[in-house]
Amino acid sequence: MENCIFCKIINKEIPANVIYEDQYLMAFLDINPISDGHTLIVPKKHFKDLNEINEEIGGKVLVLAAKIGKAIVESFNFEGYSIWENNGHFQDVPHFHLHVIGRHKNNDLKIKGPETPYKSEKEHLQEIKAILSKEIN
Ligand code: AMP
Ligand code: ZN
Repeated sequence: MENCIFCKIINKEIPANVIYEDQYLMAFLDINPISDGHTLIVPKKHFKDLNEINEEIGGKVLVLAAKIGKAIVESFNFEGYSIWENNGHFQDVPHFHLHVIGRHKNNDLKIKGPETPYKSEKEHLQEIKAILSKEIN
């Protein structure tokens, strides 16, 4: 897609540190890493976000994420890795991408909620299920 920075990387119009590429996917290092080897996996076809991708591409992205996670852990002696994906307001680059992030045991990468935890109300359970059933069928 025109003016998409990740499409430009895929088309080799702008440089990136590419660590993997095949017919469907590309994986390259994040330009602003939050830990060593922080990698982004993108489908070569432009999908805006997680809600646009299909099972085939989603499956391929996830399988590759596991392999890259393992490679990053071994390369940098991490104790594990996490995968991350932003949608809506929290997505900066509107071309679907999965973050693969290596983590040391004592590092400070934590997903923290507020001190007082949210409560999930029962009526929301019904609402979520009703919306989901429309999406799935
Ligand atoms: P998100 O908020 O999930 O859309 O994150 C976008 C990510 O893309 C950020 O972590 C950026 O550092 C990364 N990024 C933006 N431009 C580039 C680029 N040209 N090459 C590599 N990574 C990039
Ligand atoms: Zn794109």
